[in-house]
Parts: sequence; C-alpha cells; structure tokens
Amino acid sequence: MKNKIKPLAFSGKWDLDPAPESTDHISIKDQYGLFINGKFKNPSSGNYFPSINPATEEKLSMIAEANDKDVNDAVSAARKAYNGAWSKMTAKERGKYIYRIARLIQEKSRELAVVESLDGGKPIRESRDVDVPITAAHFFYYAGWTDKLKYAFPNRNPESVGVAGQVIPWNFPLMMAAWKIAPALATGNTVVLKPAETTSLTAIKLAEIIQEADLPAGVVNIITGAGATGAGIVNHPDIDKIAFTGSTGVGKIIMKAIAGTNKKSTMELGGKAANIIFEDAPLDQAVEGVINGIYFNQGHVCCAGSRLFVQESVYELVLRKLKDRIQSLILGNPLDKNTDIGAINSKEQLATINKYLKIGQKEGAEMFQLDCSIPKKGFWCAPTLFTNVSQSHVIAKEEIFGPVLAIQTFRTIDEVITKANNTPFGLSAGVWTDKGSKIFNLTSQMRAGVVWANTYNKFDPTSPFGGYKESGHGREGGLHGLTPYLNF
Ligand code: NAP
Ligand code: MG
Repeated sequence: MKNKIKPLAFSGKWDLDPAPESTDHISIKDQYGLFINGKFKNPSSGNYFPSINPATEEKLSMIAEANDKDVNDAVSAARKAYNGAWSKMTAKERGKYIYRIARLIQEKSRELAVVESLDGGKPIRESRDVDVPITAAHFFYYAGWTDKLKYAFPNRNPESVGVAGQVIPWNFPLMMAAWKIAPALATGNTVVLKPAETTSLTAIKLAEIIQEADLPAGVVNIITGAGATGAGIVNHPDIDKIAFTGSTGVGKIIMKAIAGTNKKSTMELGGKAANIIFEDAPLDQAVEGVINGIYFNQGHVCCAGSRLFVQESVYELVLRKLKDRIQSLILGNPLDKNTDIGAINSKEQLATINKYLKIGQKEGAEMFQLDCSIPKKGFWCAPTLFTNVSQSHVIAKEEIFGPVLAIQTFRTIDEVITKANNTPFGLSAGVWTDKGSKIFNLTSQMRAGVVWANTYNKFDPTSPFGGYKESGHGREGGLHGLTPYLNF
C-alpha cells in the first residue's frame, strides 16, 4: 500500500497498521539535576550520565550523578524538614499534600506513561493501564490513612520513624517510587529516594510533581546515580529506615551494611514464582494468565510466573495452546498500542537473559521462541519457553528477569507443592483450578507472600505485598505497609 509505514517489527497473524502513542505532549529536558530541598541542583561532582531509550538506543537526557556530598545534602534537607515543617503540620494537612500528588499524577498520566515507556522499554499498554494508575492509586490510598493512624493501630501509639532512605529498581520505576514515598509521607516521615540508573526519568517527573504540589522543601528528595549513590544512602548515619527493592544479591549487601545499626529495613527482593495449572482449570484462561505472568513487561517482574507446573494429563494441550498464543504476540515499538512485548531494559540485562538461554539449551532443555523479526536497533528478546526442564536446571532455579518460562509437569498435589516450594525465593505464586478447596489447600502450603488464584499479577494498594525466604522481609501496600514506617 502506498505510503504505508511498516511497523517496527511484527509477528503473528494480522498485519496491523502502526498505532504509536503521540509524543507531542512530552517534554524531556536535555539534562536534569538532583532534587534536593525542593529545588533542582547541579551535582557537586559535575558528572552526568545518559539515560537512553532501550528500543532505539537513542539518548533521551543526561542525568545527574549524586556523590556522597549530594547524599549528605539530601539527608540533611530531609532531616531539617522532618524536624521542621513536616512534623509541625497536622496529619490532616499532610494528607492533603499526598492527595494533591495523586491528582497531579492523574492529570499528567499520559505524559508519565509515555516517558515510562520511552525510558524503560515497556509497552505503552502496560505503563498506561498498569504502572501509572497503580501509582496514583497508591498516593490516594495512603493519603487516606494519614489522619487515621491511631485507628489503624488501636491502643498503640504510632510515631513516625524519621528519615527514610529508599532505593528502587528499573522494572516499575514510577510505581516503585509510589510504593516507597506514599506510605512514608502518610506516616509523617521524610524521604531520600534513588531510582535505578537506567530509569531515572519518571522519578524526576515525580519530583517535578512534588514541587508543583508545593510540598515543604526537603520532605521528598530524589537523587539520581548508580549503585554507589544507593550505597551512600544506605550507609549514611542519619538515615532511620532503609526501604529497598531490587535483587537478592544487593539486598544481602545492604543487610550486612546496616547490621548493628538502629536502621529499620524492608527488603523486596527477587523471585522465581511457580504458576500451577491443574487439569480441572479453565485452560484458555490459564494460558492467558501464564502469558501475562511471564511475557508482558518482558518478564521484568519480580513476581513473574517464571516456573510453570502443568498437571500431566493436560500437559500436551496446554503446551500447544501456549505455543499458539506465543506466536500471536506482537514484539516491537513500545509506544505502539498494539505492542505486547517491548524492549529489554538495558544491554546488560539482555546479556544476562541471553546467558540463561544458552545455559538452558546446554543443560538439555528444549527451547521454543516467538518467530518474529527483531528490530535492528535496541535490546530485544523474543518470548521463550523451555520444556524438558527438571528441578535441578539452572533456568528452573535462578531468577532470569526476562521473558523466559521453564515448564515442568506434575501428577499429585503433594508433588507440585514440594516442587513449587523447592526454591530459595518466596515472593509469589499462581494456582489455576476449578476447585475452591484446592485453592485453599495450596495457598496455605505454599511459601510465597502472594498467591493468585485463577488470575495473575493483580495489584491493589490495599493489599500487602512482600516475600518469604530470600525474597525479602516486610510488606508494602495495605495497612501492613504502614508498619515499617512507624515506631510504637
Ligand atoms: P539491583 O541491581 O539490586 O538494583 C536495585 C537498586 O539498587 C538500583 O537502584 C541500584 O542502582 C541500587 N544498587 C546497586 N548496588 C547497590 C548497593 N551496593 N547499595 C545500594 N544500592 C545499590 O536490582 P535491579 O537489577 O535494578 O532490579 C531487578 C531486581 O529487583 C530483581 O531481582 C527483581 O526481582 C527485584 N524486584 C523485586 C521487587 C519486589 O517487590 N520484591 C519488585 C521489583 C523488582 P543502579 O541500578 O543505578 O546501579
Ligand atoms: Mg532508559
């Protein structure tokens, strides 16, 4: 057809015209400073690093790198605000600020969704329908608790902790910032937050929103940088509480660093979730849940259902349905509204995923991938599944954090519970069955913080989230999410 623009990449049965989300309304500056004490400041080192679009490898902006002096300035500003304006304010007034942030997020939701997809590579459908609405919902939800803390904890005397140091990963940049900042503010604390190096932009946009909401200076400080900036926050002596979301490896480093100090901590770490399909499950619904659980968002989800257990009697049928569904997925431009699978977040993460694909094949597992053309620029991985997998395979044990599913079979309930729990992680799990009694049996025996039944990856601010074992400690979300920010 004349003048028809070819989609970035397309696979599947239908030849769809491109439907890219407009970027006209987006403003991204060439360079961003550090948000300290209510203002954007140049980093004291003068160093900046690029934030790129992982779908095109184009530079989006230059981001300031905070060193120990900047960390110290941010912590001092947070302490001053904690002792000053923020603690003198009534809880009700404090709540109004948090509501204001929530409303501004809603107002700017289109811009935030596009920036999230540009900077992180996730499909616009995900950032528009999941990340940004949940971000706003968190601020709305926690704003409501601000003046009700003594009802939330009757006969106790909840008091704020002080200055919270918060370090977050790159898979849900804006949403993770909300999970951290909203409960901290609702409980009367002040904050120093660091986003991940590859996805700083929406956290910076949130800093602009916080400035627009006229929050007293220093209540929220957002400083950018790499791991060393995170370590600077963790090790700062005037931080009262660390809230970390990221890998189990870095979580362990942080726990060692704060051992013997008075710092409180919550750790939201890695996962290797089991998704279990019983023979009596609604199979099409289950297959859709599996696809959503591991492939959407490129498997960059801590609670991704990366291990699938299928009851032997329906294994062949489920496998065929899964493969058919994989072949209909659309990989390509994250800004296209039809895109299912966006870009891998960074070159490093793509190398990690590719390393696991090689290991899986070398271990004797059989690999199946979406047959599609991969764009020449950017970082991409076709949705992949492995069969012939056993419990001892590396791909069944380690967190890959990519669109890679390892499938195993089972015969009995006891067998699948043993297999599902046979992991150092325990963040989440999924169960697909028609029988309520089976669901209750399994959920009580699975060592996982969240167990979804006949659905997957559903989040709500009222519902606590967190892990067992090496998936961390403490809970975020709901009433439980207030506790780590309070002393009693
Ligand atoms: P990561 O490498 O552990 O990094 C997480 C954050 O910590 C980033 O901001 C990182 O900075 C910073 N950091 C790195 N080294 C540090 C140090 N020594 N001290 C303090 N901070 C340090 O994890 P990631 O690769 O960004 O994220 C993926 C991981 O997060 C996965 O394991 C996933 O399961 C987990 N995750 C868990 C949850 C949950 O709720 N349980 C949710 C989402 C993700 P830079 O990136 O800038 O270097
Ligand atoms: Mg980026």
